[in-house]
Amino acid sequence: MIPFNAPPIVGSEVEYMQSAMASGKLCGDGGFTRRCQQWMEQHFGSRKVLLTPSCTASLEMAALLIDLQPGDEVIMPSYTFVSTANAFVLRGATIVFVDVRPDTLNIDETLIEAAITPKTRAIVPVHYAGVACEMDSIMALAAKHKLYVIEDAAQGVMSQYKGRALGTIGHIGCFSFHETKNYTAGGEGGATLINDAKLVDRAEIIREKGTNRSQFFRGQVDKYTWRDIGSSYLMADLQAAYLWAQLEAAEQINQQRLRLWQRYYDALQPLAAAGRIELPVVPKNCRHNAHMFYIKLRDSDDRQALINWMKEAEILTVFHYIPLHSSPAGERFGRFHGDDAFTTRESERLLRLPLFYNLSDNNQRTVISSLLSFFA
Ligand SMILES: *Cc1c(COP(=O)(O)O)cnc(C)c1O
Repeated sequence: MIPFNAPPIVGSEVEYMQSAMASGKLCGDGGFTRRCQQWMEQHFGSRKVLLTPSCTASLEMAALLIDLQPGDEVIMPSYTFVSTANAFVLRGATIVFVDVRPDTLNIDETLIEAAITPKTRAIVPVHYAGVACEMDSIMALAAKHKLYVIEDAAQGVMSQYKGRALGTIGHIGCFSFHETKNYTAGGEGGATLINDAKLVDRAEIIREKGTNRSQFFRGQVDKYTWRDIGSSYLMADLQAAYLWAQLEAAEQINQQRLRLWQRYYDALQPLAAAGRIELPVVPKNCRHNAHMFYIKLRDSDDRQALINWMKEAEILTVFHYIPLHSSPAGERFGRFHGDDAFTTRESERLLRLPLFYNLSDNNQRTVISSLLSFFA
């Protein structure tokens, strides 16, 4: 069986995890956490990076940081993972879903302004497949209406928009190091990127159970106390050790994924030229990270036929999000602003192919030849 995904392994993870164990410090904010955070601050250009247990936790931190109140509204695409919405629903917000662009499946930046009301507090662009949203337009809208921008960059680690790293453009950015993402912290993990200097101190307090323990450890205060609301949003240093191995090899992982992505693209180009499928679109000003390779079929029947065909060949291919606005919780906690011209239609015909760091050339060739034989 060729799996759809497998967690990346570069080889040095065990050594670093052993070193963390030998250090006698396994909890959060140890040596490996510091290394990972500093690497990301320097490499991506963020004011402050904080490792967290997951991107879900990072999004929750963001909702706390912007002081969201019940009844506030948050704008996002419906074509996304549940955590993008849940983090804000937990604070009592109403989610306002806006349609996606058919080319990138990202929120259509031209439809956002019409969805803004006096209750709107934030826009949450999701960089689908690691391809950037149109951030210049989104940031300009946010400045005009005094809104926060929280990037769900779960899939966008190592991607860029006009030369800037995804996750560093909005006021806050959220990364995922879940095992299905490009880099993992041993299965689960995330990071909150605080790009707005005014939010840094409070972000540290919220992450440390509402205390100023981070300042205490840096020797800035002589005791720490309860300061604010908060929770435990730290990643264990043992996990940061696993992540450090992957960040050290970040360029190598990125290049390998891009090679695999390009091979799919080139091999399937004739099918696209013949109008049988559609291939992903990467706008000129975006440098993507090959988080995902998807194709679009004519409709959901065609897609199911292909999934079945590939399964016969022992290859797992997977569809993606059921739009949130059509789910029971989405109906309860959100509303769709404007027409759903593309969200449902595109989600029903999109299919993802196996793409992961340790996918062998041989197995990828098998995937490609099985796909081509379906269309032949
Ligand atoms: C994976 C993902 C998340 C959640 O990440 P976790 O680290 O599993 O919490 C959130 N948003 C998007 C767009 C994702 O792809």
